[in-house]
Amino acid sequence: MTVDSLIRVSRFRLQPTTAQETALLEHCGHARFVWNLALEQQVHWRPGRANAPGFAEQCRQLTEARAEFAWLRAGSIIVQQQALKDFAQAMAGFFARTHRRPRWRTRGRNEGFRIVAVRAGDVRRLSRHVGEVRVPEGGWVRFRWSRAVPEGAKSYRVTQDRAGRWHVAFAAIPSPIPAPGTGRVVGVDRGVVVSAALSTGELLSVPVLRDGERQRLRLLSRRLARAGRGSIRRGRTKVAIARLRARETDRRKDWVEKTSTHLARGFDVIAVEDLKITGMTRSARGTLTEPGRNVRQKAGLNRGILANGWGLLVERLEHKAVGRVVRVNPAYTSQRCSACGIVEARARESQAAYACRSCGFAGNADVNAARNIAHAAGHVVSARGGSPLGRPTNREPQRDLLLVR
Ligand SMILES: [Zn+2]
Repeated sequence: MTVDSLIRVSRFRLQPTTAQETALLEHCGHARFVWNLALEQQVHWRPGRANAPGFAEQCRQLTEARAEFAWLRAGSIIVQQQALKDFAQAMAGFFARTHRRPRWRTRGRNEGFRIVAVRAGDVRRLSRHVGEVRVPEGGWVRFRWSRAVPEGAKSYRVTQDRAGRWHVAFAAIPSPIPAPGTGRVVGVDRGVVVSAALSTGELLSVPVLRDGERQRLRLLSRRLARAGRGSIRRGRTKVAIARLRARETDRRKDWVEKTSTHLARGFDVIAVEDLKITGMTRSARGTLTEPGRNVRQKAGLNRGILANGWGLLVERLEHKAVGRVVRVNPAYTSQRCSACGIVEARARESQAAYACRSCGFAGNADVNAARNIAHAAGHVVSARGGSPLGRPTNREPQRDLLLVR
C-alpha cells in the first residue's frame, strides 16, 4: 500500500468571494486542460504501440507546453502537475479494477484542482465556525469550520460540484484504528438485495434518496425535458437536480466512513471478496434463479449505488484496519452452505433466500455468503500461522479454499 492510498480526507464548504471564484475557476480550467491532454494520450494508445507516456514523461511534456503557451505558464505549476498526478492515480485505480476508466472533464461538471506542499500557516481559524485557507492566486479563502481540520494536512483539493457549491478537502495521513484484540473475524458480502451483509447477520444498506426526494427528482427530470434550450428555467432545474444528486453522494460517503469505522473497531479481521476475481465470477450469481421483479429493480438500484460505494468501502477499510483486511476468492461463496459446507448450485432459492437441501439450513442468502467469506478468511489466517495481527495481508489467499465437497 502506498502512502497516497492511506490518506484521509475531510471536506469543508468553501465560501469564495466573486473575485476569488474567478481565480478558482481559472485553476479548474488549467487542471481540466491538463487532465484531458493526459486522457487523450491514453485514448490514442492501442496494444502494439509504445506505451502511453507515464507521469514522469507527462511532467516533461507539461514543462514544454508551459514554455510554449503563455496562458498555461500564467497558471500554477502545482495545479497542473497535480492534475497529471491525479490522472496517473485514476489510471492505476482503473487497472486495479477498483475504479472506472477516467473520463473527460467538462466545464462546470465536477471541477477541481489540488494544492500540495501546504504548510501549517496556510490554514487558520477566524472564529468558531469560520476558517481560512490560503489558495495560490486566490489569497485567503473562507470556509465553514464544520469540524476539526486534520492536523498535519499536507495537501488539499478544491472542488466545485454540479450544484455550483465549492468545497475544500484536506488530506492527512490518519492513525489507523487499533484492532479490538478479540480475535473476531467478520465476513462482508456485497449483497444483491442489501448493500452489504455481515457474517454476524447484520444487513447494511447504503442510504439513498428518500421517497419524497426521488419523486421530486422525477418531477425535475420531466421539467428539464420540457424546458427550452438555454432557458433560465432549464438552468435552474439542472442546478436543482445536481443538488439532489450531490446530497445522495454525500450520504453515501458518510455511510462508507461510518461503516468502515464500525467494522475496524469491532473486528480483528475483516474479510471481503477479492474484487479482482469478483468481476469474472459475479455473473454466475445472477443466473441462479429468476428474481422477482421488485427484487431485480432494487438490485439494479443497489448495483448503481455500489458501483462507487463498494470500492470506496474496501479502500477505507484498508486505511483504517491496516493489515487486517483479508481478500478471499469469491467463487462459490453464494453456493456453499455456511452450516455444513456443501456446495450446491441450486441451493440459492432466490436472490434473498438460501436453503440447504443437505442439512436443512435456511437463511438470508447474502448473510450465508458473508459467513462463507469469513470462513475462507479463517483458513487464510490459520494458513499464515495463527494470529493475523501485524502480519502482511498482501499474501495471496488460497484459491481452492471454498472448493469444499
Ligand atoms: Zn448445509
